[in-house]
Amino acid sequence: MSTLEHVRAFAPPVEDGARPRNLVGLSRAELAEAVAAMGEPAFRARQLWHWIYHRGATDFAAMTSLSKTFRARLAERFTIRRPAVATAQASVDGTRKWLLRLGDAQEIETVHIPDDDRGTLCVSSQVGCTLTCRFCHTGTQRLVRNLSAAEIVAQVMLARDELGDWGARADERQVTNLVLMGMGEPLYNYDNVAKALRILMHPEGLSFSKRKITLSTSGVVPMMARCGAELGVNLAVSLHAVSDELRDVLVPINRKYPLRELMAACRAYPGVHNARRITFEYVMLKGVNDSPADARALVRLLEGIPAKVNLIPFNPWPGAPYECASAMAIERFARILNEAHLAAPVRAPRGRDIMAACGQLRSASRRLKKSERDRLTAPA
Ligand code: SAH
Ligand code: SF4
Repeated sequence: MSTLEHVRAFAPPVEDGARPRNLVGLSRAELAEAVAAMGEPAFRARQLWHWIYHRGATDFAAMTSLSKTFRARLAERFTIRRPAVATAQASVDGTRKWLLRLGDAQEIETVHIPDDDRGTLCVSSQVGCTLTCRFCHTGTQRLVRNLSAAEIVAQVMLARDELGDWGARADERQVTNLVLMGMGEPLYNYDNVAKALRILMHPEGLSFSKRKITLSTSGVVPMMARCGAELGVNLAVSLHAVSDELRDVLVPINRKYPLRELMAACRAYPGVHNARRITFEYVMLKGVNDSPADARALVRLLEGIPAKVNLIPFNPWPGAPYECASAMAIERFARILNEAHLAAPVRAPRGRDIMAACGQLRSASRRLKKSERDRLTAPA
């Protein structure tokens, strides 16, 4: 299926169908249009944007810089909705996971990982994933659809609600970095992801710097250049294998976009030569891709690319067909990369006890009844 066909087949429900209309997820220009349509001056849109994305207001009544009549008119027409939290879990290591229920009862997961110097929010871009990487639990979920821009942005807003981040000083915030490494393949949902990231980066709102955002792809080669040129965010590539033969099995999209094309797209990634390294993710699988010969081949493959390698200990899930490489094998692998002057941190598994670790996310969404689907996608 082409990227375009994918976009059509897995479109999110039309949000416009819902009344009152949700303002979360509108671009700055769309918000300006909505305000203009109410006969209000343009600066009201800026004020509203500030309340929604800078202050985190969820209620028009709290927007005290707006006139009472305007607030009342807004409340008649619009809401500032977040998805419902179906379950919230906290790991012994401080990682938190929220299972969010969307308007059509589909569910997605968002994970917060606190560290000493940062707090990273792992955001989902799809319900499930159409790709079927053999080691990934998300890839075994049958039901898939793209998330809307609103649903992507709302994950960040909800995390800020839950962690008390609105109004916190920049150096006290819990969510400082965003990674699109949750459920789904972000470059198979490019338009909604791009719209969401523009909202998240807007300087008068949430104002995340592109340097604090990392998009992870399994290697959707035709979309990589656009992502770099239009969004300028950091890129992570899920590599996991150094030969096409093995990568065809582990990351099946490799059959469509083999290593030669993938590495060429990495070399051409906009901004990559301005000290912006690409992160290559490499999941360590016992007896599969963890030998010294694999490490040496990886060094050769990455030659000439400003790169760092994230070695991810495989996170097991029930019924997974692989085992995690031994600590010794991981250490040996890292040493070979380090000797070739490649940074190769071993990612500490976080949130394993609540199934929140890399590749473990998988909701138990139910299939929608046709009547529910029709209701949600009905035009306004
Ligand atoms: N679809 C995108 C982003 C989501 S996956 C992608 O594949 O890049 C985020 C990362 O988790 C990817 O590097 C993925 O390969 C890795 N991953 C998936 N399953 C895993 C598992 N069971 N253990 C460790 N990492 C896993
Ligand atoms: Fe999809 Fe990424 Fe999981 Fe592969 S690793 S199935 S691309 S979410």
